[in-house]
Amino acid sequence: MDLKLMEAQPTDAEKSAVNGLLGPPSDGWTGGDRTEADLHIARGGRSARDQRHLLLPALWALQAHIGWISPGGMNYVCRRLTVPPAEAYGVATFYALFSTTERAPRVAHICDDVACLAAGAADLCSQLEAAMGPEGAGDQATWMRSPCLGMCDRAPAALYQFAGGSDRSAGPITVEQIQASLGAALPGPGKVTLSAGGEPLRLLRRVGTVGANLDDYAASSGYAALTKAIAMGPEAVIEEVSASGLLGRGGAAFPTGRKWAAVATEEAFPKYVVCNADESEPGTFKDRLLMDADPFAVIEAMTIAAIAVGAEHGFIYIRGEYPETMRTLEAALVAARGAGYLGADVAGSDRSFDIEIRRGAGAYICGEETAMLESMEGKRGEPRQKPPYPNQHGLFGQPTLINNVETLANIPHIINDGADAFRAVGTTESTGSRLFCLSGNVDRPGVYELALGTTLRHLLALGTDDVDSIQAILLGGAAGTFVTDLDIELSHEAANEVGVTLGSGAVVVFGANVDMADVVARIARFFRDESCGQCVPCRVGTVRQEEALTRITSGSNDAALIAEIGEVMAEASICGLGHTASSAVQSALDLGLVGS
Ligand code: SF4
Repeated sequence: MDLKLMEAQPTDAEKSAVNGLLGPPSDGWTGGDRTEADLHIARGGRSARDQRHLLLPALWALQAHIGWISPGGMNYVCRRLTVPPAEAYGVATFYALFSTTERAPRVAHICDDVACLAAGAADLCSQLEAAMGPEGAGDQATWMRSPCLGMCDRAPAALYQFAGGSDRSAGPITVEQIQASLGAALPGPGKVTLSAGGEPLRLLRRVGTVGANLDDYAASSGYAALTKAIAMGPEAVIEEVSASGLLGRGGAAFPTGRKWAAVATEEAFPKYVVCNADESEPGTFKDRLLMDADPFAVIEAMTIAAIAVGAEHGFIYIRGEYPETMRTLEAALVAARGAGYLGADVAGSDRSFDIEIRRGAGAYICGEETAMLESMEGKRGEPRQKPPYPNQHGLFGQPTLINNVETLANIPHIINDGADAFRAVGTTESTGSRLFCLSGNVDRPGVYELALGTTLRHLLALGTDDVDSIQAILLGGAAGTFVTDLDIELSHEAANEVGVTLGSGAVVVFGANVDMADVVARIARFFRDESCGQCVPCRVGTVRQEEALTRITSGSNDAALIAEIGEVMAEASICGLGHTASSAVQSALDLGLVGS
């Protein structure tokens, strides 16, 4: 393919969008008009290349203001950041929320993933097609199908992208509402619905009362943990976190204290703290709730982590589908900075720490920690070979602590109340409480906080009045497994024993009337679409798996082939996506949900 990017010129609007982020170009080599002086001296060079990490924000500037990334706009970004056009094109085309072809300035992304499918998303898309034409058609407004938008409690859900306006999310939506929203020129921010349940509440106790108001946060013991952590000192803080037994809540369940200790003992500097807020696992929306309802808890926890491991710079990598949440976090960061909780002398500690936000652009794989780091460095989100691990060789090759949002939200409680109080909740091996995202065919979808070790049946009873009509439950998201046994104990050790996983805390319920063949086919398609394509077992395996599944639902017997493909992907893939891409499909076959 001949890109011909170097010949394309940016419009004034495109230049303005990029300059709004990067500032005006300093010379003719990095986007300015060439002058006689530029012919005698080459400025930019390394200092410009060092800005490569701004490639995604620069592409976002074009996408958000112009509505697509034109060759001229991309060429201008390449000149500003000294990035080869072919590389920038490879990055821009990796992410689903970027468009490198001209399209309507108003776009509705309609989720047709598992939870929305259970809520009638397939019918909704058919109605949209009848009303607006096929996906992508339309000069001024269009629609397209999307993987999970992280709004499973409001299914079926939509994400609106408006060129020159503010992106926003909405749900549950109807065809009429979508058309009305697309007709609005410059919509205001969308309404964020918070939902929480279960008891006793610790992580969710501020839902609906604090938000981005620092005074309210301080009035509910906010920043008490940071003050205490500063007095304790880094070693005692890490000991307390280790003693709590807190396991990572992003899916891998790695001991948090061990991660902190590993980064703290690295001698290289600078070090980074990264909050992984890219919760893209279908059926998962708890981190959105935490960031919407209690953003300072995440910021305070990152600050404690930074002081413990010796970092001065932090990043929150948030999924691109959460525009309102990103704006909430931005407001909270401004408030924390203004009050001296971030900056040169954090809370009088003589320690420096600040946080930047990086917005993902629609790529499930960027929830994998090394893919996320690649994305933050301005590259395609392709996972790295491990080792070395991020604690040694993370962001920009430096020691990096990466924790998920829910993991971090536990930290202030551990510091305030102590490790013993934390361990008093949950089981011996799975300490504390956990956020479960209940969605699908239930009466009260939402985020439920429960002690680890409770049963699935107890969780379901909180969310639905008709447990008996449940056909199957997807536990842990698309990378998890289908289960039909409601008496499973929700702890890591019990889940391991029966060959399932709690994963990201997703619990998607399918009632008796749901066609499970459609649901399982959607999961297979999801992995085919989201594989980064870097390694053969996953790139080819996810395609072959979907093909074989299609044949099975048409009556052929390809179960053995699917099992074989799954084994190869699990054993030979580079990262967790390939390792788990067959779990849900295989469990559906084992339980006779499809193909029988
Ligand atoms: Fe990419 Fe899949 Fe390989 Fe992971 S397993 S690196 S997603 S191709």
